[in-house]
Amino acid sequence: MSMFEDIPVDVGVIYEGERIRRNNMQVELGGPKQPAKFELVRAKKMDEVEDEKVTVIGPDLKDLPEGGNVPFGIYIEVAGKDIEEDLEGVTERRIHEYLNFIEGIMHLNQRYDIWIRVSKKSFQKGLNSFTYLGKVLARLYKSELPFIEKIQITFITDPAKVKEMYDQAAEIYEARDAKARGMKDEEVDTFYGCTLCQSFAPTHMCVITPQRYSNCGSISWFDGRASAQVDPKGPVFAINKGDLLDAEKGEFSGINETIKQKTLGSVDRVWMYTGFGYPHTSCGCFEAMAFYIPEVEGYGIVDRGFNGVTVNGLPFSTLADSGAGGRQVDGFHGIAIEYMRSPKFLQADGGWDRVVWMPQSVKDRVKEFMPKEAIANVATENDVKTVDELTTFLKEKSHPVVQRWKEATVEAAPATEGEEALDGIAFPVSTATVAAGGFKIIFINAKIHAEKVIIKRDKPKR
Ligand code: ZN
Repeated sequence: MSMFEDIPVDVGVIYEGERIRRNNMQVELGGPKQPAKFELVRAKKMDEVEDEKVTVIGPDLKDLPEGGNVPFGIYIEVAGKDIEEDLEGVTERRIHEYLNFIEGIMHLNQRYDIWIRVSKKSFQKGLNSFTYLGKVLARLYKSELPFIEKIQITFITDPAKVKEMYDQAAEIYEARDAKARGMKDEEVDTFYGCTLCQSFAPTHMCVITPQRYSNCGSISWFDGRASAQVDPKGPVFAINKGDLLDAEKGEFSGINETIKQKTLGSVDRVWMYTGFGYPHTSCGCFEAMAFYIPEVEGYGIVDRGFNGVTVNGLPFSTLADSGAGGRQVDGFHGIAIEYMRSPKFLQADGGWDRVVWMPQSVKDRVKEFMPKEAIANVATENDVKTVDELTTFLKEKSHPVVQRWKEATVEAAPATEGEEALDGIAFPVSTATVAAGGFKIIFINAKIHAEKVIIKRDKPKR
């Protein structure tokens, strides 16, 4: 690409899925080991931006320790006559895509979760200054998003400056998120779709409503609206919500039609407010995963920033893989933290009455939006370590899920001795083997829906 002649490495879509392993990395910027890191875009007036200016605050790439991990911030200021604050969120989301176009750069996540690696190979080819990254970003932004007339970019590695700007960024993210709070999905005719994640998850489309944030937690309904207005043919577009088919589950004819078209028929039905049946698909960049814990009939929630193992013994990464990739997997549901502040949060499953565990840090973030009882009823890593301990905790608290256990026992009662009956259940099966008449049937990653399941204990033949 002649547009990038002066850049020492290649730039193009083909590098987007590139993974850089620890052994091959020159340096790691941000990531789980750094408490403060951010990327932020702000809309400015024309005279406040010096076009294509790139600034580095702190040590540049070539001066960072080889194999090291450093605090990091990207601050982008844009100006243009059509630019308004509501365009900041979607503009910011593009950093992910554009940085990944650079050979030897891996960018993950967004906002306060960013995690970037620079490969040794590209560093040796001469990619040894953030100035190159800035040049690529500036040119891609101006060619891809014509509403951007001027852009200036600052990279920050100075730890004190990263921390200072991180605190400011956190306030700006909060103000953006707060904007749609109080609005209802019922009050608007238009939702927004986002296919920015299709390069990683081809059958994924986020549906963004006032009460359900994009999975990545960085595009609100307002952001979607602003983006669809200036760039209607782009990856963020309007969805006419159509007919309401199910208010409780959140099914709309317009969503079904649009997702069918945008995923080439792979997904043709979505229920917005549940993790079961036809749940909203999960891409790969969701902020948190709601995972069903069948033993207690409730949801655990774990966010990307949680470094330990959850109550079922699995870390975020394993649980995330169980639901990611644009699939609809019962009981593994990628979500944004902001969605947890929504009254529609897992509404069809019982909402907060169904949540049993989450990290203390997430609880602290969403506490003021949780019902009072739920604050006491939902366990964290400080309360319980195992599902057994969780079971005891929930009983002690008389958590609403405990009522479900009783109902299940009553329903099972009429079954004859040696049989157990479960009514109206749907459960995910990773691998199951059924022996019947000398045959063995193996289900792999199957989804089983049944009105009634009867499990008979084999009596040994005499
Ligand atoms: Zn995504």
